[in-house]
Amino acid sequence: MQNIDTIYIDGAFVTPHGDELFELFNPATEQVIGRVRLADAQDARDAIAAAKRAFPAFSRTSKRERVDMLMRMHAAVAAKEDALYEAITEEYGAPVSRGRWMAQHAANVLLEAAKVLEDYPFTRRAGIADVVMQPLGVAGLITPWNSDAGFICGKLGAALAAGCTAVIKPSEMSAIQTHIVTEALHEAGLPAGVFNIVTGRGETVGAEISAHPDVAKLSFTGSTAVGKAILRAGAETLKRVTLELGGKSPVVVLDDANFDEVVPLAIQAGFMNSGQACIAGTRILVPQQRLAEFEARVQAEVARTQSGNPRDPQTSVGPMVSKKQWERVQRYISVGIDEGARLIAGGEGRPEGIDAGWFVRPTVFSDVTNDMVIAREEIFGPVLSIIAYRDTEEAIAIANDTPYGLQAYVFSADAKRAREVASRIEAGRVLVNTLAHEPTAPFGGFKQSGIGREYGTYGIEAFLEPKAILAAS
Ligand code: NAD
Repeated sequence: MQNIDTIYIDGAFVTPHGDELFELFNPATEQVIGRVRLADAQDARDAIAAAKRAFPAFSRTSKRERVDMLMRMHAAVAAKEDALYEAITEEYGAPVSRGRWMAQHAANVLLEAAKVLEDYPFTRRAGIADVVMQPLGVAGLITPWNSDAGFICGKLGAALAAGCTAVIKPSEMSAIQTHIVTEALHEAGLPAGVFNIVTGRGETVGAEISAHPDVAKLSFTGSTAVGKAILRAGAETLKRVTLELGGKSPVVVLDDANFDEVVPLAIQAGFMNSGQACIAGTRILVPQQRLAEFEARVQAEVARTQSGNPRDPQTSVGPMVSKKQWERVQRYISVGIDEGARLIAGGEGRPEGIDAGWFVRPTVFSDVTNDMVIAREEIFGPVLSIIAYRDTEEAIAIANDTPYGLQAYVFSADAKRAREVASRIEAGRVLVNTLAHEPTAPFGGFKQSGIGREYGTYGIEAFLEPKAILAAS
């Protein structure tokens, strides 16, 4: 049992003013593995005050000083990789390879921020003016549970690179992972108040940060519904807002695609992070004339996909993070059946032989039409929809017929043709014949998948405001 009874304010671990105790679970066993004492609105105000006090000095630090700090943070988080991996497995249930990647990713995003900062020009010329990119002030960073450490470090890295100070509100369900990251970041020895971490509920701590007049910038990753509430809360004081929200990403399989290569990639894109990924490719668009062939290959691929004990190296789909999330996914599978979609793999209930843990059967529906609930709403679990199309024009129309626009995938034997299709898809990122990641490229959504971009120079600029200085010579 882990008891986490401190939050991090003004460079120190302190007892929260809030006194609510929240249970932490191992989603693979449903056992309680810890308890966290949650922060409240008063704690959020204290953290904001600390970040506000730290801002004047921190915003004037040199680029070199901030690069050094980010490198120290990187080293400190990297040194905790094994502890973080263990916590990710225990508290979140990520399978081995995913959990290891997540633990390394948390450190890597800090290194990336340092590299981008090295080359970032804070001053430029526009005609007779000097344009200075100036940090916005105190940044409120609100993160979800599906990649706790990565989101904390990614947002913090960009905010600090820009010269902002920060108050972070992670998910209350990830308190053990957050505690390890906080210890690491503390060891990096930054000036007091530069970052503060207050684990608490969204409705209290998150809401206080979103509305507080001393917070200049909000960067949020989470659901579209909460993103809209945050945008409204921030509007009163015109906060700058970056929102990374949900997705319903299309996987466009063109009629010339080689299914030997494409089917494993499509299944990987759909079931990544146990399906709890905003970028998961959940609508697979397949040419009508090759549908039967595609379905048969998908069935064979899913039969090889193991959902179960995250510590088993053969497992690629771990449990859902919580009972609530498990029930949500089960509800969507039942809705898909009721809507008349045809199950070609998986279905309701737990995988065979498993009677505890929030495990889902990796599920694929075919005969899905794009107006069905399972094709329109984000399920956030390993449940995929195959939608047949007649020609490429229709495939593009279906791909874009969604309120979301975070990511898309295009697969074709003809790279040029695939790129042409990619150019017509409304999404912040389109992967063509690959599942590669590029940490310096912008990441974020079109439409209701969000506002603004993270990563690379785009990510740093989200925490900066241009100021033009025109002076008589
Ligand atoms: P969520 O929106 O419920 O919660 C996200 C964070 O916001 C949590 O820390 C939560 O406590 C906080 N929060 C909740 N209510 C709040 C309020 N009223 N004011 C301020 N903060 C509040 O999302 P979740 O269930 O934790 O995560 C899953 C969602 O996140 C999915 O919809 C997924 O698509 C999205 N997501 C998006 C991305 C992306 O980069 N676009 C990445 C990962 C997850």
